[in-house]
Amino acid sequence: MATATAGTAGNSRPATTWHNWAGNVTATPARVVTPASVGELQEAVRRAAEEGLRVKAVGTGHSFTAAAATDGVLVRPQALAGIRAVDRTAGTVTVEAGTTLKELNRALAREGLSLTNMGDIMEQTVSGATSTGTHGTGRDSASIAAQIRGLELVTADGRLLICSEKENPEVFAAARIGIGALGIVTAITFAVEPLFFLTAREEPMGFDRVTSEFEEHFAENEHFEFYWFPHTGNCNTKRNNRSQGPAAPPGPVSAWVEDELLSNGLFQVVNSLGRAVPATIPSIARVASRALSARTYTDIPYKVFTSPRRVRFVEMEYALPRERVVEALRELRAMVDRSGLRISFPVEVRTAPADDIALSTASGRETAYVAVHMYKGTPYQAYFTAAERIFTAHGGRPHWGKVHTRDAEYFAQVYPRFGEFTALRDRLDPGRVFGNDYLRRVLGD
Ligand SMILES: Cc1cc2nc3c(=O)[nH]c(=O)nc-3n(C[C@H](O)[C@H](O)[C@H](O)COP(=O)(O)OP(=O)(O)OC[C@H]3O[C@@H](n4cnc5c(N)ncnc54)[C@H](O)[C@@H]3O)c2cc1C
Repeated sequence: MATATAGTAGNSRPATTWHNWAGNVTATPARVVTPASVGELQEAVRRAAEEGLRVKAVGTGHSFTAAAATDGVLVRPQALAGIRAVDRTAGTVTVEAGTTLKELNRALAREGLSLTNMGDIMEQTVSGATSTGTHGTGRDSASIAAQIRGLELVTADGRLLICSEKENPEVFAAARIGIGALGIVTAITFAVEPLFFLTAREEPMGFDRVTSEFEEHFAENEHFEFYWFPHTGNCNTKRNNRSQGPAAPPGPVSAWVEDELLSNGLFQVVNSLGRAVPATIPSIARVASRALSARTYTDIPYKVFTSPRRVRFVEMEYALPRERVVEALRELRAMVDRSGLRISFPVEVRTAPADDIALSTASGRETAYVAVHMYKGTPYQAYFTAAERIFTAHGGRPHWGKVHTRDAEYFAQVYPRFGEFTALRDRLDPGRVFGNDYLRRVLGD
């Protein structure tokens, strides 16, 4: 472990232990800096490199992998936050890297603007979320990183690199999902569009029906996803499609019952009980999966896409070629049924169109995601190992921010553009100033 030192670049202090949201990753950086300007950040990177310390920017620690862990200089983003510019003619917004998705969504809504698609929550920073390829579900619209039109990056030599399709296009092609390996992102320009309404239809459906009709549901909806409750044949489906409005959010009672009681409060109690007495999980799952009822509501995008997640868990998620997902899900269900495993968390299934980012989980192929979760504090290895065996047999690509055991050798097989990314990394960061143990495993030395 490196010893703590005082610094001069930005607000610098000796480190304490850092841990991620799920609590499954901890690190003790040599020092923590909170630069208040791009200049201070550049100085912090130069100084760390001179001292032989590695540097890692962290977001809000919502990754389940050790992607953000460091024994060197931990760069906190809080003082580099806020909206820099809104360009209505170009249809873009430029934000500082430490801005959270929540701040961005709310600021955009005030301007009558919105991102096109997003994930389940909005606690993450824009740079942390995009760096690991955070995505929601979409037929035509892809991950948050795919909505990037430009970004600024402090590289290992302390230079500020501006990237877009026109400027440094080879860096732009990779750095939108850079896993922190190419430099520190200081600002991102996103494509935005006029604020619109989405009507959500949530509806319980049987596993056999939802899997046999999966391609139809996918084709008929702009955003289709479903949750399957292990130990049952029950799923909850969610279809989000654009509508004329007006906003018709769930009534306060329905919202409280579905979002707070069933998804957070009661779900917490149920999971704690299941952790203490795993044998109760299948019966609880049958009751819980039936408790959700059909509902339809309309609201602006971030209020439909995202919801609070207060029950802590660990997660693994794989991106599969879309045509393989139903087979993989049937195998997952058969594995759970014969395994003796007790799984209290639903399995989430989402989609994304192919995109053009080198290390995007949807790079160059139509994709469906399968995510498995375990309640925090419950042993997850046996479940995740068995699930991962199924996902990798279908050529799956793990989410960069979610638990997996894959290494560079595997990624070289499942990403046709893996070599393009590692060559760029060799050029931009030959000394591995931005390296850590996770990157050594997934990208190689
Ligand atoms: C409750 C919960 C719900 C989630 N829902 C979804 C979902 O719906 N869809 C989905 O795809 N994922 C989801 N995730 C995963 C999450 O979106 C990603 O792990 C995301 O990367 C976390 O963002 P963060 O700001 O916390 O970044 P961190 O986890 O802190 O960091 C992630 C990576 O980004 C790098 N990084 C951070 N800032 C910078 C920067 N300025 N420059 C360069 N690199 C940087 C870090 O070094 C690290 O490698 C969820 C996670 C949780 C805990």
